[in-house]
Amino acid sequence: MGSYGVGFIGLGIMGRPMARNLMKAGYSLTVYDVVEARVNELAAEGTGRASSSREVAERNPVVITIVPDSADSEAAILGPSGVLEGASKGSVVIDMSSIAPGTSQKIAAACEAKGVDFLDAPVSGGEPGAVAGTLAIMVGGKKEVFDRHRRLLSAMGSSVVHCGGYGAGNVVKLANQIIVATNIEAVGEALVLAKKAGLDPSVVFEAIKGGLAGSTVLSTKAPMMIAGDFKPGFRVRLHQKDLHNGLLTARELGVPLPVTSLVQQMLGALVNDGKGDWDHSAIATFIEDMSKITISGR
Ligand code: NAD
Repeated sequence: MGSYGVGFIGLGIMGRPMARNLMKAGYSLTVYDVVEARVNELAAEGTGRASSSREVAERNPVVITIVPDSADSEAAILGPSGVLEGASKGSVVIDMSSIAPGTSQKIAAACEAKGVDFLDAPVSGGEPGAVAGTLAIMVGGKKEVFDRHRRLLSAMGSSVVHCGGYGAGNVVKLANQIIVATNIEAVGEALVLAKKAGLDPSVVFEAIKGGLAGSTVLSTKAPMMIAGDFKPGFRVRLHQKDLHNGLLTARELGVPLPVTSLVQQMLGALVNDGKGDWDHSAIATFIEDMSKITISGR
């Protein structure tokens, strides 16, 4: 059972179920989101409520944030009425947003300057993993701080791994997002080719899923392409954001990421095409449009 107060900021698709799992584990929560209706929903289920991130931090020694992107984490933690205005020495901020590793390092430095501990702890596993409490959580920051909060993180995830210093959690998350996006793109190309050759894409899927081409991406995304069903899931616009952060980081490090860059451009084109809120398996529709054929035959 949890034994101390936890502040929770960002009650979106991921934050809501993660907050619920912390309540189930016995932690006493105070929540905040810029959208008041989301605060009301959780407060009706028994959490405390705050009217700013600062107030969340004033009332809790541990504050978790999960907001969309780098600028949002900066606003929630470093901004006016943000977490650092309310946090006391010895408290901890755990940012579970998927953001640029460089921004995590900037936030960590600002926390250290106030005697506040920091962990970047982005997640993988999507809404189903958040609901089931089976997220993969990849963590950057000091090992002793990680060790102190491993039990708390385990209430939201089944895999909790310390990856290195500040920003390391988000570097690992970017690695994850590169592998997933480029794998989806390859599945899309392969199934379009097979369809154009007159084959049944579901037969192709059955024939290759047990071989070296088999992957969680193939098993979960090929059926969506075959059905022509791109309901999210993980949205195109969020994946575009992650690859953008990957390319920014690669530029800082002097690492060319040619295929990631191509797929990031495809995701951008899909957003312009009104598909920003489709599942990221819709990368296949970019390939379909170029070939004037659909995998599903729809
Ligand atoms: P979301 O847009 O559903 O939720 C984000 C929430 O943060 C919203 O309720 C928003 O109002 C709130 N918010 C934004 N700025 C704020 C601020 N300054 N102060 C307080 N609240 C603020 O997004 P999500 O899908 O829950 O994703 C959150 C993060 O988790 C993102 O970085 C995303 O990439 C990552 N992620 C999402 C998934 C997924 O499948 N949705 C999977 C893994 C990781």
